[in-house]
Amino acid sequence: MSVVTRIAPSPTGDPHVGTAYVALFNYAFARRHGGRFILRLEDTDRQRFQSEAEARILAMLTWLGLTPDEGPGVGGSAGPYRQSERLDIYREHANELLARGAAYRAFETAEELDAMRAEQRRHGRDPGYDGRGRTLPRDEQEARAAAGEPHVVRLRTPDDGHTSFVDLLRGEVRIPNTEIRDTVLLKSDGFPTYHLAVVVDDHLMQVSHVLRAEEWVTSTPIHVLLHDAFAWSLPTFAHLPLLRNPDANKSKISKRKMDTSVDSYREGGILPEALLNFLGTMGWSMPDGREVFSLQAMIDVFELERISLGGPVFDLKRLRNLNARYLRDELSVEEVARRVRPTLALDGGPDDSVDDEYLCDVIDVLRPRVETLAELAEKASGYFVERLAYDEDSRKRLATGQSYLEDLERAFAALEWFDEDGIDELLHEYVQRQAVPMGKVMMPLRVALTGTTDAPGVVDLVAIMGKQRTLQRIGHALESISQALPDDDPERLRLEAQAAAKEAAQAAKGKQRRPVATERG
Ligand code: GLU
Repeated sequence: MSVVTRIAPSPTGDPHVGTAYVALFNYAFARRHGGRFILRLEDTDRQRFQSEAEARILAMLTWLGLTPDEGPGVGGSAGPYRQSERLDIYREHANELLARGAAYRAFETAEELDAMRAEQRRHGRDPGYDGRGRTLPRDEQEARAAAGEPHVVRLRTPDDGHTSFVDLLRGEVRIPNTEIRDTVLLKSDGFPTYHLAVVVDDHLMQVSHVLRAEEWVTSTPIHVLLHDAFAWSLPTFAHLPLLRNPDANKSKISKRKMDTSVDSYREGGILPEALLNFLGTMGWSMPDGREVFSLQAMIDVFELERISLGGPVFDLKRLRNLNARYLRDELSVEEVARRVRPTLALDGGPDDSVDDEYLCDVIDVLRPRVETLAELAEKASGYFVERLAYDEDSRKRLATGQSYLEDLERAFAALEWFDEDGIDELLHEYVQRQAVPMGKVMMPLRVALTGTTDAPGVVDLVAIMGKQRTLQRIGHALESISQALPDDDPERLRLEAQAAAKEAAQAAKGKQRRPVATERG
């Protein structure tokens, strides 16, 4: 028997991390066994339906690399894959059950059902449909339906005994039939309920393994009865543990306590590899205990039996940590550059002219210092703007190091071998000559070059930026110091005059050339 798995999300709201989680396990299992993975959309709840949600679910799967083999927009021989396009199929199947006597048309009005439940509560019983419509003769049911009387189609369920099934992770699950009421299969508007649609679809799509979230475990006995009613054989069931909030009582992951939207993780700079790896550790582990593993590595050894049921916690700190490891160690610097490039906030928006080599150098020094792509893009952007905007605090720091910056501007300009060794030597000698602690010189220089104090080592910075960019930035930094001083401050007047003279000299030299990004001295 070939393995066929599926996910059946409802296109309502943001693509959920729980959907990604269930998709990962279904995908890994199908791939492991050379089977197929289907995306089916449960879009029959028209009140909660959102038209753009389908595209977002597909985009999420594509982003994660969990592309379905069959599905809406993908095609496949068992389609259509939107339940709203399969209404005739469900109606035919409901008719089949009616013909077999396994289902019946029930005509109770909402008021009647309310009164029934109120009565049950009054007698201390659990409210639920009591099967009162079962006795209506079949021809009468058909006559009333033909006359247009509103009604539902219900499954006839046994009153005593048990219904059981084997869950691959839980063993036998048994439910007394008194807990199962004559479930609605077809609603009065002709739409199927979840139970009818899921069973018919799983059968017609030849789904061999139903791997879905734990919350559906109590619905499964109804599905078992429905399979029996159709005389169909059962698929294998495994209910995956629910992801939990990292709170004290480990409640089911929810929007209120936790960001559950995959899109917002993507926008926040989480890598698909890291999110998949993280989800792969939710109730599952590699046989060798490795914490960092690729999707393919997971597929190669994936066994459902290794899933453990103790509620896995969706711990954001761990996700960010893992993401940092991917950025730093797992992806090549070129690959990180490729992903950062479109999100760099440059003066004139993302810029194709950003030099690859310079970008890679910048990323290489920054990536040990960030956890997400978004942080990386934010930090890296400053390395590409023509002129940094120094804030008040930075200008004060620059002002305290003004004389060092002026000296270093001259020294760098004169430095012939503008490489790491040359820069390192120059800085050490300078600090020694000044007889000041290293930090006193490095801090203003770091601020001048990056606009922030949280930056990589200065030698790296200067080497990456190259001579021209370094000099330009120190020059801009010196100019900006004046803005931190009062209008009539003599120092400000001196700096402004100096800047004006420099500008005039440059203008005289003719058209200024833009610095070449790769320039290293
Ligand atoms: N629409 C359900 C969900 O989103 C599908 C449950 C199932 O897989 O049967 O979880």
